[in-house]
Amino acid sequence: MNLILLGPPGAGKGTQAAKIIGKYEIPHISTGDIFRENIKEGTPLGKKAQEYMNRGELVPDSLVIEIATDRLTKDDCKEGFLLDGFPRTVEQAEALDKFLAEDGKKVDHVLNIDVEADILMKRLTGRRVCKGCGATFHITNIPPKVEGVCDVCGEELYQRDDDTEETVANRIEVYNSQTKPLIDYYEKSGNISHLDGSVDPDELLAEIVKILGD
Ligand code: AMP
Repeated sequence: MNLILLGPPGAGKGTQAAKIIGKYEIPHISTGDIFRENIKEGTPLGKKAQEYMNRGELVPDSLVIEIATDRLTKDDCKEGFLLDGFPRTVEQAEALDKFLAEDGKKVDHVLNIDVEADILMKRLTGRRVCKGCGATFHITNIPPKVEGVCDVCGEELYQRDDDTEETVANRIEVYNSQTKPLIDYYEKSGNISHLDGSVDPDELLAEIVKILGD
């Protein structure tokens, strides 16, 4: 099962990804997470990516394609994978199709989650992430039991550098101009489903399970 989660930043891709991999036992591959790990470790890749990320811009295609396809060669991807945040441009999508085709594979399904821009802004600027386990909270929608502390592992919560109002506005604009065209790209192959990301996350998962089957 080779899946892609598509949608604007803040649509709930990360939340659904955690639920989907629990059900279907495939690895969750988030290029954003890979970059953030590299930033944390201070690698050359992290240093390069950080400049773009802090401005809410896309990391150059050549770099992202290399990182993503390298991850897809790992053993745990043999039975399928869930891509979250990749591809983000038509060039990346074409490179992914080519990479998979070399191995006789293809993208089986694209789940496009959409949410209105004003909801995205509120979700992202209020988002807090755990430094330890990566669990996500929201200052008003999903507050932790103790302010600033993760309910799951007790570590400190932080705000992502790119979740500030100015950067979020740019990320939404970048999504509209560079990533949205992917909807048409996958529409042509007829394997895309459109989902409402403003509903309760468990309700959304139920919709996804209806599409993918048990
Ligand atoms: P995300 O965690 O998916 O919201 O990604 C955070 C940031 O990482 C994005 O705003 C981009 O700067 C960068 N990034 C992640 N994935 C990609 C991608 N496929 N192409 C270009 N930049 C990416």
